[in-house]
Amino acid sequence: EVAQAHLDRIDAVDERVHAFLHVDREGALAAAARVDAGEVSGPLAGVPVAVKDVIATKGVPTTAASKILEGWRPPYDATLVERLRAAGTVMLGKTNMDEFAMGSSTEYSAYGATNNPWDLGRIPGGSGGGSAAAIAAFEAPLAIGTDTGGSIRQPGAVTGTVGAKPTYGGTSRYGLIAFSSSLDTPGPCARNVEDAALLHAAIAGHDPRDSTSIPQPVPDVVGAARLGATGDLSGVKLGVVKEFAGDGSEPGVLSAFHESLEALVKLGAEIVEVSCPHFQYALPAYYLIAPSEASSNLARFDGVRYGLRVGDDGNRSLEEVMSLTREAGFGPEVKRRIILGTYALSSGYYDAYYGQAQKVRTLITRDFESAFERVDVLVSPTTPFVAFPFGSRTSDPYQMYLADLFTIPTNLYGGPAISVPCGLSEGLPVGFQVMAPTLADDRMYRVAAALE
Ligand code: GLN
Repeated sequence: EVAQAHLDRIDAVDERVHAFLHVDREGALAAAARVDAGEVSGPLAGVPVAVKDVIATKGVPTTAASKILEGWRPPYDATLVERLRAAGTVMLGKTNMDEFAMGSSTEYSAYGATNNPWDLGRIPGGSGGGSAAAIAAFEAPLAIGTDTGGSIRQPGAVTGTVGAKPTYGGTSRYGLIAFSSSLDTPGPCARNVEDAALLHAAIAGHDPRDSTSIPQPVPDVVGAARLGATGDLSGVKLGVVKEFAGDGSEPGVLSAFHESLEALVKLGAEIVEVSCPHFQYALPAYYLIAPSEASSNLARFDGVRYGLRVGDDGNRSLEEVMSLTREAGFGPEVKRRIILGTYALSSGYYDAYYGQAQKVRTLITRDFESAFERVDVLVSPTTPFVAFPFGSRTSDPYQMYLADLFTIPTNLYGGPAISVPCGLSEGLPVGFQVMAPTLADDRMYRVAAALE
């Protein structure tokens, strides 16, 4: 019944929302039947979940919202999908996103944008806008996203939902179509913090098939969310990042953020101003590191091994076919990243761009480490602005990149961070971000749950 109710809801609203690229009705009902038959049990048995289309699902189309993978059905499941199935969740289908997870609005999906359920004329965030919108529109109670620079948290913020990026390496990347391997982190999207923690616990943990997976037990995120929900934060020190305080944020976002800070103080938390002087360089460093890794990862889409092949008429060289395939198969933002990354890695420029960006990454990590000597978590708005109208930031890539101003430092550092709804600005949702030290995912859930 639960699975059917969500499939019905998708039928009723997804034409307008366009959260899904593919709905797997048969698979969902079969999974639900297994739960009914008592074959699986546990806290998430029978709970529907939507999965971002950048994650491999056996036999179910997986495109990363790109034309170059149109029609591809992976022969295997990602580790986290295996774990979702083992937990008895019911996969409803695959959600829309910016192509290869590059973007902040889903406008770069090759299959058309997702509309924000709060205002269909506005973006749902990105790149995981489909997962967040599916939750906001009650098409799914849980969803999986991936966060390379903010793609779980920023869509969460602008759709009034919860989105958490676990510690890098805390969730397996096996079966995730790689964008920037040193940053990519799968994680949960949900309607409240405890649900996010339950989903987090179901997918997290060591995976020998991912060389950067952390061989340590997962912190008790569910217990921490429940503890936070009791509303006691006495003794918890919240660091407000000085460099994120003013410039660039909409006034309505700042006032919702400050009201939430006051609410947390009433629960016993202490506010400490901290300085993270290198955060201002996070955006430029990210836009060298992420495209560099992407240019290398996306080399595999050559028209030979997967999906699309263009111009293979028997008269053209292999190189011509590859070039025609990539020309036709990749969208403009993906091409921009490949060109930027290839340039940054090229001999003679490597030290000046990629090498420098890596040094900045180290300085940002040190900023986090010294901040966490003084405070338990850092807090900020999740994104400087609420959901913006379609088309308003596509003509200038930098305007789009600014959506991740506050989320990107965490990715460069590797720690966990969550976005939790904290009120409205001009009738649109605002997100509150909690950033914790690496491996302290439980601490982030505790503070976030207290805010609900
Ligand atoms: N918006 C950022 C980008 O375009 C982050 C994307 C992500 O987290 N996948 O790179």
